[in-house]
Amino acid sequence: MPEKSLYEKSLDLFPPVALRATQLGVVKGEGAYVWDEEGKKYLDFASGVAVVNCGHNHPYVVQKAKEQMDQLIHGGHNVVYYASYIKLAEKILGHVGSNYKIYFSNSGAEANEAAIKLAKQVTHRPGIISFKRSFHGRTLATTTLTASNAKYRRNYEGLLPSVYYAEYPYATRTGLTEEQEVSRCLAQLEEIFHDLIEPEQVACMIMEPIQGEGGYVVPPKAFLQAIRKICDEHGILLIFDEVQTGFGRTGKIFAYENFDVKPDIMSLAKAIANGFPLSAMVAKRELMDKWPAGTHGGTFGGNPVACAAGVAVFELLEGGLVDHAAEVGSYFKQKLLELAEQHDEVLEVRGLGLMIGIEFVDQNGKPDGEIVSAIRAKALKKGLILLNCGVNHNVIRFIPPLIVTKEQIDDAFAIFSESMEESLTDATQKVN
Ligand code: PMP
Repeated sequence: MPEKSLYEKSLDLFPPVALRATQLGVVKGEGAYVWDEEGKKYLDFASGVAVVNCGHNHPYVVQKAKEQMDQLIHGGHNVVYYASYIKLAEKILGHVGSNYKIYFSNSGAEANEAAIKLAKQVTHRPGIISFKRSFHGRTLATTTLTASNAKYRRNYEGLLPSVYYAEYPYATRTGLTEEQEVSRCLAQLEEIFHDLIEPEQVACMIMEPIQGEGGYVVPPKAFLQAIRKICDEHGILLIFDEVQTGFGRTGKIFAYENFDVKPDIMSLAKAIANGFPLSAMVAKRELMDKWPAGTHGGTFGGNPVACAAGVAVFELLEGGLVDHAAEVGSYFKQKLLELAEQHDEVLEVRGLGLMIGIEFVDQNGKPDGEIVSAIRAKALKKGLILLNCGVNHNVIRFIPPLIVTKEQIDDAFAIFSESMEESLTDATQKVN
């Protein structure tokens, strides 16, 4: 009997909830590529969901992590200090601003937990405003904050109290102008404040500066600026969840830089250490200084090896990687825009830097998740890994490593457009 594949073995070992988005078993990664068990090479335009921004096994990140491993693997978050922990804090705060402090943990959800705990701790207010189509994690509290798919909450109801959901602009869907869409969303927020919770009872608003799982939805600058103003007027803390958008993904180190709006608190994870489990919550100094010792913590947060990798990531980002991402991102987006012009099934191509989404609809203009599944399956067979997003699963997201070259983008584009043409032809044949 031939040996079972990694996927086949997984079926026996893991619950359905732990199964992956593809059946691909990989044995090696390098730059924008991974190799499967048969030695077949794939272009990875999913990057482990925006994690390996510097590319798989970037030699500089590997070298710095190895050097740290030879020195010290674990320090103990609650026990001792070590140099990589300090250095990464200095790097990130050096960029965000000296009026901020940082707290390290292990995952995006944990960073968001820290963010809302801090907000409650310092404001003494109960309420939280989150946004529709948001995704903030899978712990019980972050499941409460997440409002993009009822399946995330199924059988977990009875979640965190006093969380309310505000509208996040999506003019492409509502058909309104950008200005009207912003007004619509702000009016609904006013309604929440009037009908459900007074703003002076709200500790924080938590939002993704560009929605990730919700469909790569880029809000108008005016919306984020209006939210900033409302928060300031009522003493509400503004939290940006930059877990998916951070570390060069949008052509800036952090996505907020695209909107000229700075949050009071920010959560970071995914690409922070190019694949090592690490996350951080950054917040204004005056807030952090009010967070008493012993009221939050964890064993592994700020692991020495992960922090050493994080320092290497930051050096690479500052050393030209972010500018490269912005440049090749607009090259890629332009190609997709030109392709979209020829197809009514493409509702929109959108995104910033190398965080690009393409949204599909059917002949009646309804979200078409089936076509997205078909395109992804065909692309995978041809050697391109793609992920979907969007509350109707009808958006393909392109999140290659930021080191991706124009030639690799051309290769991926060729596979994608071929897979798309074939899938659209198959769909038409099915209808007829
Ligand atoms: N916030 C956002 C915006 C995310 O995209 C994700 C993960 N997709 C999370 C939080 C949760 O991060 P983690 O899976 O590391 O807990």
